[in-house]
Amino acid sequence: MTNLPILIAGGGIGGLAAAAGLAQKGVRSIVVEQASQLGEIGAGIQIGPNAFHCFDTLGVGDPMRATAVYIDALRLMDAKTGQDITQIPLGEDFRKFFGNPYAVIHRADLHKLLLARCRESGLVDIRTGHRVQGYSQDGSTAILHFDGYDDLGGVGVIGAEGLNSAIREQMISDGPPVISGHTTYRSVIPAEQMPEDLRWNAATLWAGPKCHIVHYPLKGGRVYNLVVTYHRDLQEAISGRPVSRDEVMQGFEHIAPIARQIIEHGDNWKLWVLCDREPISNWVDGRVALLGDAAHPMLQYFAQGACMAMEDAVCLAHCVETHETIESALETYQTMRRVRTARVQMNSRLIGEYIYHPDDAKAEVRNHVMSGMTAEEWYDQLNWLYGSNGLES
Ligand SMILES: Cc1cc2nc3c(=O)[nH]c(=O)nc-3n(C[C@H](O)[C@H](O)[C@H](O)COP(=O)(O)OP(=O)(O)OC[C@H]3O[C@@H](n4cnc5c(N)ncnc54)[C@H](O)[C@@H]3O)c2cc1C
Repeated sequence: MTNLPILIAGGGIGGLAAAAGLAQKGVRSIVVEQASQLGEIGAGIQIGPNAFHCFDTLGVGDPMRATAVYIDALRLMDAKTGQDITQIPLGEDFRKFFGNPYAVIHRADLHKLLLARCRESGLVDIRTGHRVQGYSQDGSTAILHFDGYDDLGGVGVIGAEGLNSAIREQMISDGPPVISGHTTYRSVIPAEQMPEDLRWNAATLWAGPKCHIVHYPLKGGRVYNLVVTYHRDLQEAISGRPVSRDEVMQGFEHIAPIARQIIEHGDNWKLWVLCDREPISNWVDGRVALLGDAAHPMLQYFAQGACMAMEDAVCLAHCVETHETIESALETYQTMRRVRTARVQMNSRLIGEYIYHPDDAKAEVRNHVMSGMTAEEWYDQLNWLYGSNGLES
């Protein structure tokens, strides 16, 4: 294309994955991040086999496999009755079917390993404290504009600045994100603080009316990640604000004590108001494209936002390697990614409504259908998602 680097706005999981993927193809990039230090807040993240397929292409397969925590099952419980609904086993058969495991990992570890790969490559220049304001372009260059820094030119620009991307705002102008009103609280506790009868080596979802609780072990089982959510109809996009345990408890008065006790054991709770956006069919403007949450932000219910960002990174690097011009590379990247990512966005909303939060008859239907499914049926149902690697739309 040219010897100019590709500019990547945002040094989150998506931005660093993009830089790592490009470096694997010998392509230089500059990552510009608004924060003064790179890092990730929040705690655990679930990683489907589709993300593991990507790790090797991004050059981080071995360290990711060494750092991830391998759980035995995805376990679904009814939070109202305290009863088991179903389990999806994640053992040998799952790995054989999908060619990779399902695991959980601390966000900071995932981010750190991508960052280490970027640094080792010698092809990624990372600049913190750089807040992108917008972009412009001409026939040969894409330019990033900053608050307080000189402009930066590159062969193309990737907007990976998450939910409130300035590049998306300029390109799409679709206003603020959609606020779901679902409020999520996160806490990480030492394993000894977790109720003894719930110290399962599983990603467990307690699904209740307008609320749910998720927990799984992290850091080799030394801690448990707690993520609990209820409909609170907050209309402000809050991210990471500390809250009291009593505030968290308010949304869970109506569920079984066995599930409620999990919240009593949490501490240092932090709050997020969940947002997403409608899927869109164009996120490319000439030499500029979006990636990760900037392109297709989704509710957390499929646990796939970061996995999709890593798939985007694999696809982007592949397209840059195989096209003569950056414009055609980005067009193909978008064509390969938009249907799949829109499908995950839409399904994330549906899953929230029909699996995570239904009550009465709808909850009965969920329990009836899901409790009757065999492991093989689950694997078939999930194959479109977990069987792909970012290169199949
Ligand atoms: C409660 C919860 C649980 C989740 N669980 C999972 C899960 O289990 N599995 C999964 O795959 N996904 C999960 N996700 C989704 C996942 O966290 C996101 O999809 C993923 O972090 C998106 O990465 P990103 O790099 O695209 O955006 P972000 O992580 O938002 O990173 C954007 C980066 O850009 C920077 N930035 C922003 N604006 C600018 C600017 N103007 N200039 C320069 N830099 C800027 C930010 O500081 C940040 O570093 C979950 C999300 C939530 C809320």
